[in-house]
Amino acid sequence: GNLPPETEALVARRQRLLGPAYRLFYETPVHFVRAQGAWLYDAQGAAYLDCYNNVASLGHAHPRVLEATARQAAIYASHTRYLNDTVLDCAEKLLSHFPPELSQVMFTCTGSEANDLALRICFAATGGTGLVVTENAYHGVTHLMAGASPSLGPGVNLGPHVRTVPAPRDAASFAADVAAAFADLSRHGVKPAALLVDTIFSSDGVIPGAFLGPAVQATHEAGALMIADEVQPGFGRTGAHWWGFQTHGITPDLVTMGKPMGNGYPVAALVAKPEVLLPFGTKARYFNTFGGNAVACATAMAVMEVIETDDLLANASRIGALMAEGLRSLTHEALGETRQAGLFLGLDILEDGHPSAARAARLVNLLREARVLISATGPKGHVLKIRPPLILTEAQADLFLTATKAALRLL
Ligand code: PMP
Repeated sequence: GNLPPETEALVARRQRLLGPAYRLFYETPVHFVRAQGAWLYDAQGAAYLDCYNNVASLGHAHPRVLEATARQAAIYASHTRYLNDTVLDCAEKLLSHFPPELSQVMFTCTGSEANDLALRICFAATGGTGLVVTENAYHGVTHLMAGASPSLGPGVNLGPHVRTVPAPRDAASFAADVAAAFADLSRHGVKPAALLVDTIFSSDGVIPGAFLGPAVQATHEAGALMIADEVQPGFGRTGAHWWGFQTHGITPDLVTMGKPMGNGYPVAALVAKPEVLLPFGTKARYFNTFGGNAVACATAMAVMEVIETDDLLANASRIGALMAEGLRSLTHEALGETRQAGLFLGLDILEDGHPSAARAARLVNLLREARVLISATGPKGHVLKIRPPLILTEAQADLFLTATKAALRLL
């Protein structure tokens, strides 16, 4: 198309060198050479406000986290087959943020691996394989998880042991749908094993709320276990709590996490009830070469310390509320509902009162031209997904709102 020549050249080089399954963001792809705090910088030094990245959740290149990573890498970096304190210190710190029933940790490198392992653990604990996920869920890249991720579209088949339920509108109907899905699996000779849900239903359109209590009960009645996928809402993103499941007032059987856990260093984990882990632990051996390595654990510990000492949950609550208030005060016929929990916001984009993926994409690209980065999500692709770092300032929130207002004028 009409891309700048340097961008065109990089895109061509990428197409030549990388496998074809990758997708770039934005009509004019962005090209960054460094990042700091909430800002990403291109080769010309222009600053872009990151309102999307859920990995560098403490801000890019966080000095305390970098220091911890470098210090540990220089001392000892090895794996979980040798005794070492760092993995245990990290496990203890992580568990201090969970209810007492959830008292054991297993480390992985990615959220996909954590979900994949969680599901294998549920297979072992229940003797079943039946899995229930939401209609537009995303849970990862492994074969097992891609087969549990309907948001990947019709090109990726769901496993024959998988059933989907609509994202929740209310607790009672969600529980009824979950119960019916497990009953359908049983009828087809598939024994129930797990309900796996992202506790903020991000890819289903960002749906914060307290929906899961009765569904967990229905899951247990079906003989299955509940896995809370905290890859997106975890580590304080929702402001009110460390984990999304706490908003629902439930105690899951297993909890998976990743993305912001290392603020950019690949580290992920699952936390579970010991009795749930035991059948898998007695039947199987688990070794993840890089999962739980000392550098990953030192990094994750530093991330947790920063969230605690800088009180980032409070900042996420305060700034998130300001952003939601600001979005709700905008008047434009394209704007539907704003949903928000901490610094996780979803905004419905409409045309003639109906969901409009085209308009959402146009706004995402207009904001990109204004050097503010967001994306769109949801089954219809019409939900703006706004997820800035937890350190976002009031001035940066204002900048986002001003840019959004200007983008709406150009829509
Ligand atoms: N679960 C959810 C809800 C996710 O958003 C993602 C990543 N987008 C994953 C799991 C997979 O995590 P990873 O990419 O680290 O494998």
